[in-house]
Amino acid sequence: MTTKELILFSDKYIMKTYNRFPIVLVKGSGVKVWDSDGKEYLDFVAGIAVCSLGHSHPKVVKAIKKQVEALTHVSNLYYIEPQIHLAKLLVENSFADKAFFCNSGAEANEAAIKLARKYAYEHMNGNKYEIITMENSFHGRTLATVTATGQKKFHTGFDPLPEGFRYVPFDDIPAVKNAITEKTCAVMVEPIQGEGGVQIPVHDYLQRLRKLCDDKGILLILDEIQVGMGRTGNLFAYEESGIRPDMMTLAKALGNGFPVGALLTTDKIASSFVPGSHASTFGGNPLGMAAGVAVMDSLLQDGILENCRETGFYFLEKLKEFKKKHPVINEVRGRGLILGVELSIPGDDIVKKAMGKGVLINCTNGNILRFVPPLIINKKDVDHVIDILNEVIVP
Ligand SMILES: *Cc1c(COP(=O)(O)O)cnc(C)c1O
Repeated sequence: MTTKELILFSDKYIMKTYNRFPIVLVKGSGVKVWDSDGKEYLDFVAGIAVCSLGHSHPKVVKAIKKQVEALTHVSNLYYIEPQIHLAKLLVENSFADKAFFCNSGAEANEAAIKLARKYAYEHMNGNKYEIITMENSFHGRTLATVTATGQKKFHTGFDPLPEGFRYVPFDDIPAVKNAITEKTCAVMVEPIQGEGGVQIPVHDYLQRLRKLCDDKGILLILDEIQVGMGRTGNLFAYEESGIRPDMMTLAKALGNGFPVGALLTTDKIASSFVPGSHASTFGGNPLGMAAGVAVMDSLLQDGILENCRETGFYFLEKLKEFKKKHPVINEVRGRGLILGVELSIPGDDIVKKAMGKGVLINCTNGNILRFVPPLIINKKDVDHVIDILNEVIVP
């Protein structure tokens, strides 16, 4: 099929839940992708913080190929070898004692919400089920996780939403304190709000949240679906704060493009899930787990985190210089390789023009350019993107 036909059939047969750019990406390697007309792009979107090791990373490709030839799916009625390996790697490199596997971010958060309620039901006095989440947050699109998402635009038309969520402004400890009632069982928060526009809280926000949750005897759930797996330059974003969450959810980069989600928690909390409490047919399946193991191996052994910190720092400095030249930029911010450029104008046009010049970037919340490239980019890649941004930002 020609590109034109592909797009025609896409519009004819696929529900219009996305506004898509008129290109069909058919091939990827490292930081580059190619469309169906053979045009090359430098990909600073990486499937929205998913392909952190770059496209078709050799270790991940090899692991998936080997696994698909050996065993694709069996069911969690049986022990699954790569699932055990991935759980061990995640637990030994985090605060957690136990993992639960699923297939997406929303599912990981759904599991966290259910586990928080079940734990509260068993261990907290009274009828505690309410979870405090943040305004401008993003936690997924299932009914429960979209309700946890503190953005009205995602709620409209889906009433009645499940009960038990309360929203407070992000980066505001007194607001959380005021919102805690005798019904509260947990606080759920992203260490950095990704979809919300790369919003970075004050440095001791997580520490103060941790203390507040401890004082009130409620759980702290971190949604690291976007910022975990090395994105901030640490394996997990919470590490920088020195705290330990009670639960953490992962997805996006965990399988480098193969759909994998995970909920990590402590033994004590995990024991509220018993056989039959929660499940997933595909969760923890051999293929996804093999991909996850390859990703963890690479993150831990190949200098990816160091490169993320170093190149991220360089990128942020370059963006700060870039800001000085363009008054339409309000602010530049980021940590590791999640960076945002907040504009005083809509960002769509810049994204489109950059695409025309062979650079894929993303705009979130209307006016915030978000950069979540593969963690393997180098300074030359950054320089090229900055050059293109300089060309396309002038109105
Ligand atoms: C992407 C994302 C989700 C949802 O993940 P899906 O795999 O799309 O369900 C949840 N939380 C955060 C922070 C995310 O970035």
